[in-house]
Order: sequence, then C-alpha cells, then structure tokens
Amino acid sequence: MHNKNFDVIIIGGSYAGLSAGMSLGRSLRNVLIINEGKPCNRQTPHSYNFITHDGKTPRKIAELAKADVEQYKTVYFFDERAVKLMKNVDGFKAEVSSGERFYAKKIILASGIKDIMPDIPGFAECWGISVLHCPYCHGYEVKNEVTGILANGDMAFEFSKLIFNMTKKLTLFTNGKSSLTQEKTKKLKDHEIGVNEDEIESIEHENGQIQKVVFKNGKTIVLKALYAKIPFEQNLDVSDLGCELTDQGFIKVDFMQKTSVPGVFACGDNVTMMRSVASAVAQGNLAGAMVNKEFSEEKF
Ligand SMILES: Cc1cc2nc3c(=O)[nH]c(=O)nc-3n(C[C@H](O)[C@H](O)[C@H](O)COP(=O)(O)OP(=O)(O)OC[C@H]3O[C@@H](n4cnc5c(N)ncnc54)[C@H](O)[C@@H]3O)c2cc1C
Repeated sequence: MHNKNFDVIIIGGSYAGLSAGMSLGRSLRNVLIINEGKPCNRQTPHSYNFITHDGKTPRKIAELAKADVEQYKTVYFFDERAVKLMKNVDGFKAEVSSGERFYAKKIILASGIKDIMPDIPGFAECWGISVLHCPYCHGYEVKNEVTGILANGDMAFEFSKLIFNMTKKLTLFTNGKSSLTQEKTKKLKDHEIGVNEDEIESIEHENGQIQKVVFKNGKTIVLKALYAKIPFEQNLDVSDLGCELTDQGFIKVDFMQKTSVPGVFACGDNVTMMRSVASAVAQGNLAGAMVNKEFSEEKF
C-alpha cells in the first residue's frame, strides 16, 4: 500500500469497525481499517437478534457489511494484525505484524475481546454452538429445553433469573463450592432451579452439540444447552497508548465513545458487557460520527 497517512486508523474490521468506517467514509474522511479477521463469534453457526439479518451466519453479516463500506473510496483495508500503537508528534502510529507502519491523526479501537475458555475438555468445541454466552443471542433456539448454567456467586443468580424466563428445566452448576448467599440459594430452590456443586471433569458433545456434563465424581447429567459466564481479555494491548480501563477490564469511554486519551475512540465489545452485533454497530456508527465532528471543529 503506497499511502501511509490517513485521517483515521480503525483497528478491527468486524461489526464495530466496519460501522465506524461507514460513518467516516460517508463523511469523506481518509480511513484505514486494519483487521486480523478473527471476530469472537466466528464459531457460532447463526447470529440472531440483529434486525434485518436475524439468523444469518456471522460471516455473511460481516461480508455484507464490508461490501457496503467498500463502496466508499476513501476507506482502505489492510488485513493484518496491528502489533503496536503509539502516539507521535501530530497523531498516532500503527505497526502491523509484517513491520509496515501507518500514520493517522486519530484512532478508533474496534478490536473486540478474547474469551478465555475454562480448562474443561469439550467446552471450547461447544462454545457458540450449544455452550452459550447470552440468552438474547441464542436462548430462543433452546427455549424450554433441559439447560444448565455454569457460573457462581451473584452473577450466577442474576443469570439464572434471566434464563428462567426461557426454560424451567434449569440447573446451576457452580463447579465447586457455591458462593451464593443462603438467601439467593433459597430463592433459586423456590423456583425449582437446582444448585449442583460437583466439579466438572468434561463436556461430552457431538460436533459442538452438548450431550452431557461429566463430573469428577463419575456422575453425568444430560443437557441440551449450557450457558456460561467466562472471563475475557482485551484483544489489543492499549497500555502503550495509555487508555484507561474500567474495573471489569473494558476500555473506558464517555457517551461519545472517547477514551481517556485525546484522539483515541473505542467501540464494540472492547468497551461494554452489552455484547451484541447491534450494539457494536451502534457504537461504531457513533464513534465514526464523533471522530468526524472533532475534525470538523478542528478544521473550521
Ligand atoms: C460465541 C458467540 C456468539 C455470539 N452470537 C451472537 C448473536 O447471535 N447475536 C448477536 O447480536 N451477538 C452475538 N455475539 C456477540 C457479537 O458477536 C459481538 O458483540 C460482536 O462480534 C462485537 O463486534 P466487535 O466488532 O466489537 O468485535 P469482533 O466481532 O470480535 O471483532 C473484532 C475484530 O478486530 C480484530 N482485531 C482484534 N485485535 C486486532 C489487532 N491487534 N489488529 C487487527 N485486528 C484486530 C479481530 O480479528 C476481529 O476481526 C456472540 C458472541 C460470541 C462470543
């Protein structure tokens, strides 16, 4: 690529990044989208709950989005991993894995997060297929089925309340001693939600479809679906840029998607636990518009 200088570099070219790219392309800004192409939902067979694209494959939605953005000739794409982001005199420098460097006045981080799989054989293979992160995205397809929740503590209680609406055949697996309060445990029992503290050995599955949970004590439980709350880390190390993180590990942004570093914006899964394609697209759209507004104010 000959051009190395852009108005804006967007790191991540999935739903949030493409949406930001569209706002900026339509605003005649020169944009480079650097994308490694590993969105977090790539293993899930169908993506739900995004209006007009409900039930399409994640890849199809991304391809349609990219085709939309490619119509804007001031938006460029570079398919590699950005390995280093740094401030320089009049903006920012992004270095990709092959060593090439690009420069821009502003940066949008749309780099998503990486889910950290627990050390349970079978779990990763079922992730996004029958082991589910979110009832809004995949709950309807397994409504009224025999379902488990793998979580513990207050978060497990909140998750149970939400999923109880989708199925009454529900068991909470705390995978070791429960840290729920007595009051919360009683409330779950009142709703006939079992609390199972047995330690999990593995998940048996066929092509990602869960068959049963196998416990270390030799017992098994047959399930159709398992919801799980698992930890995550940022896909991109933003410490060189100096962006502040929240206590939960998200990039801190204000209501205009501005991070704590002037000129750096962020959008999508990297800033919020409200994780959905629709939410990533909405935030990307806003980030693009706010970056454009800043340019307009600076240049007028
Ligand atoms: C298993 C699963 C199933 C889901 N199902 C649904 C569903 O049915 N419906 C729904 O609405 N939502 C669903 N979601 C949530 C949805 O996928 C996310 O909210 C959405 O993908 C977030 O978009 P994003 O652009 O922020 O991040 P992502 O889609 O994760 O994309 C981030 C992009 O940035 C790139 N990137 C990261 N770091 C770098 C770097 N250093 N250099 C270059 N590129 C980089 C990645 O490779 C990737 O292409 C699901 C999530 C998961 C995990």
